[in-house]
Amino acid sequence: MSSRTRKFLSYYKPYTRLFLADMACAFIVSAATLIFPLCVRFVTKNILEGGAGGSGYAPDALDQIYFMGAVMLGLLVIHTLCNAFVDYQGHMMGALMESDMRRELFEHYQKLSFGFYDEQKTGQLMTRITNDSFALSELYHHGPEDVAISLLNFIGAFFILVSINVDLTLIVLVFLPIMAAYAFYFNRKMKQAMRTSSDRIGDINAQVEDTLAGIRVVKSFTNEEIEEEKFAYENNRFVDSRRDNYRTEMYFYEGLLTFTQLMTIAVVIFGGVSIVSGSLDLPDLLTFLLYIGILIEPIKRFGNFTRLYQEGITGFDRFMDVLEVQPDIQDSPGAVDLANVEGNVTFRNVSFKYKEGYGYVLKNISLDIKAGEYVALVGSSGVGKTTLCSLIPRFYEVNQGEILLDGQDIRDIRLRSLRKNIGIVQQDVYLFAGNVIDNIRYGKPGASREEIIEAAKKANAHDFIMTLPDGYDTDIGQRGVKLSGGQKQRLSIARVFLKDPPVIIFDEATSALDNESEKAVRESLEKLTNNRTTLVIAHRLSTVRNAQRIVVLTDNGVREQGTHEELIAMEGAYANLYNTQLEI
Ligand code: ADP
Ligand code: MG
Repeated sequence: MSSRTRKFLSYYKPYTRLFLADMACAFIVSAATLIFPLCVRFVTKNILEGGAGGSGYAPDALDQIYFMGAVMLGLLVIHTLCNAFVDYQGHMMGALMESDMRRELFEHYQKLSFGFYDEQKTGQLMTRITNDSFALSELYHHGPEDVAISLLNFIGAFFILVSINVDLTLIVLVFLPIMAAYAFYFNRKMKQAMRTSSDRIGDINAQVEDTLAGIRVVKSFTNEEIEEEKFAYENNRFVDSRRDNYRTEMYFYEGLLTFTQLMTIAVVIFGGVSIVSGSLDLPDLLTFLLYIGILIEPIKRFGNFTRLYQEGITGFDRFMDVLEVQPDIQDSPGAVDLANVEGNVTFRNVSFKYKEGYGYVLKNISLDIKAGEYVALVGSSGVGKTTLCSLIPRFYEVNQGEILLDGQDIRDIRLRSLRKNIGIVQQDVYLFAGNVIDNIRYGKPGASREEIIEAAKKANAHDFIMTLPDGYDTDIGQRGVKLSGGQKQRLSIARVFLKDPPVIIFDEATSALDNESEKAVRESLEKLTNNRTTLVIAHRLSTVRNAQRIVVLTDNGVREQGTHEELIAMEGAYANLYNTQLEI
């Protein structure tokens, strides 16, 4: 059994009892279906026909008829109850299993690294967690039950057919292998088509997600038509894949259906001939035809199961494709928790590239930042400043060299512990849909209202928050669209105040702000940097100038470092940068 199969079955485990009850009901339903025509046969053949023979009905014929009526009613009640159980509890079991898988996938998403998300489309990832897992829940629930009922009905009906009339059964036997081969062939074709169409649904979702996330850009460029074209492209590709899909499905279903009809016709003709020649009686032919109906039922059910199976298995494959991705960055076996971090950050000969085949972004960087020091990082755009900063919390792994926090290689520190000690404020702030207070609380889950207000005051955010319609409880819209850039930035700083880490990184946090908000943000930043190791990337000299040390990053690594005055005096790269900025 492959590991995926084992994984597939493992989701039944918590619901074993429910599953067994479900299967038991399915068996009973199947048995009831098989017994029903036997009752009809008993009434027509044993009770009624005996009388029609001329010898008069047996004295207890009526009693027998009433008795059989009662038996059939009883069967009906059992059949209905069991069917109801399968319908309701079976579906619930599927839904519970689906929710287990969804949770597992969601937790896995949280573990995957930046490198993974750089390559993935959000819409595809969302499709896996919604569409694909739904298809699976259907398979989980209906799959075994369909297989069990079809198999049981099929085998049962077959044996009953043999017992009624061997010759007629032989006719049926001629058809079965042909149908099996036919089903097998189209089944394989359906699998491919199903995978393509699942991928296409993911593409559509990815396209919609992309357009909606950028809807403001779309509108400002009045490029609605371009977006519609992109959407139409994905939409048409989906239709094409569905066309393939439905075509194979059509061959599959219609083929099977035709074969079964041919089988019935053959039995009617042959049976008719046999009756005329006296080797068969009418009730037997009628019963035989009833059972052929029962035999055809599982064949149709099997057709249904095939589609369910293909959809579910495709979903499962897509699910496993992601679940089997190992996060590139994980805790090493002996990783430790850091207590009382002072905040010494050291880069030792660090080289880094984003991917194999890409050039190195950072080459042989060495840098030593003392606890509590305020260091500014400057350099032209694209030189790797952001990259350098994202190596400290281990968003990406260095290719060569090492980064130390308080002398400890960060690869030997547990990720949670490492990241708890680092606060990052970036240019594009991400706020979650919800209200102000919950967004600030994100810096320290469980923080009290007082703590939050305190942090907001330090971040110069309290005053503007109080002017919002509901103060701290104001809804700020998705990604904080109802706030200005400076306001969002101050909320993100309040978050970091609340988190209170010993190491802080500002990546162009004020670059996009107007002078007035920049001033408010800068004041709050300065409060935040007190007694903390601070690494600032900034264009504005106002932020850089009062740094204890300025580090100039170029394509060839750290070119020069020193205070503002020292670097100006050197008349090197920094002086150049400074002078060009003055001109602007
Ligand atoms: P800076 O912050 O100094 O402007 P960055 O560190 O953002 O520069 O980028 C440095 C280089 O790395 C750029 O050439 C950029 O194209 C590349 N880069 C940045 N992020 C990624 C990524 N996620 N995957 C691949 N390359 C990247
Ligand atoms: Mg940058």
